[in-house]
Amino acid sequence: MNTTYLKLPNGHALSYTIRPSARAKYLRMQLHPSKGLVVTQPLGISTHALHQWVLSQQAWITAALQKLAQHPPPVAALATLPEHLALLATGESLPVIYTPTDRKNITLHYVEHTSLTLSGAINAPAACQQALRQWLRGYAQVHLGKQLQQVAAETGLQYVNCRVKGQQTRWGSCSSRGNINLNEKLILLPPEWVRYTLIHELCHTVEMNHSKRFWALVAGFMPDYRRIHAEMKGLVTVSIKVAPNYPNIIKMGNLVVINVEK
Ligand SMILES: [Zn+2]
Repeated sequence: MNTTYLKLPNGHALSYTIRPSARAKYLRMQLHPSKGLVVTQPLGISTHALHQWVLSQQAWITAALQKLAQHPPPVAALATLPEHLALLATGESLPVIYTPTDRKNITLHYVEHTSLTLSGAINAPAACQQALRQWLRGYAQVHLGKQLQQVAAETGLQYVNCRVKGQQTRWGSCSSRGNINLNEKLILLPPEWVRYTLIHELCHTVEMNHSKRFWALVAGFMPDYRRIHAEMKGLVTVSIKVAPNYPNIIKMGNLVVINVEK
């Protein structure tokens, strides 16, 4: 498989993928919502001849693109690159800008409270996702770590060490040694949810269980914790995809969640 570009009459460049096939008898093309334009190349047809044929099919391609734009497929079927990141925990809201250059790698440039720019080989969605995810984890590490320190100082509850990870099924955990693990996705949640999670894990440094005493301790720091606990329950199992035309955002009640994971 390799990718090449076609210049459309409207001036836009469209990338397409060539799929060599030993079984195909004729050149053919398909426009996929997630894979884009894929051209099947039978044995014996040169790549040059294939390009010429693609050029001759511009009317079909333009019509197919229009049709796709009018009937966008379900969110999950689209390639998953966000145009925007809403980092609710810190209140930062960043447009994500993709700038193609001829470099082979991707660099990410973050301007606080302004934007996130990916430049380089941005036509590889998986590599962009990887870069965004890596950045998001670093960002979560810094900000969740700071917030945990603050809440610990405020409550007088002590922990030993804090790590931010990409857990699938829990928002946080606390070991018997007082080490706290936090889910990096917390950075996408509203501040009071994050605060509840931090208090919850810090209370486990005193009570390693969910006994009445544990919940009384939580309630002492956060009287309305029950409501938040109920709202958060089960959310972590929801898988949310981010797509180009659905700016990154899925609304669940009044919660806005983005996810740069595959
Ligand atoms: Zn717990």
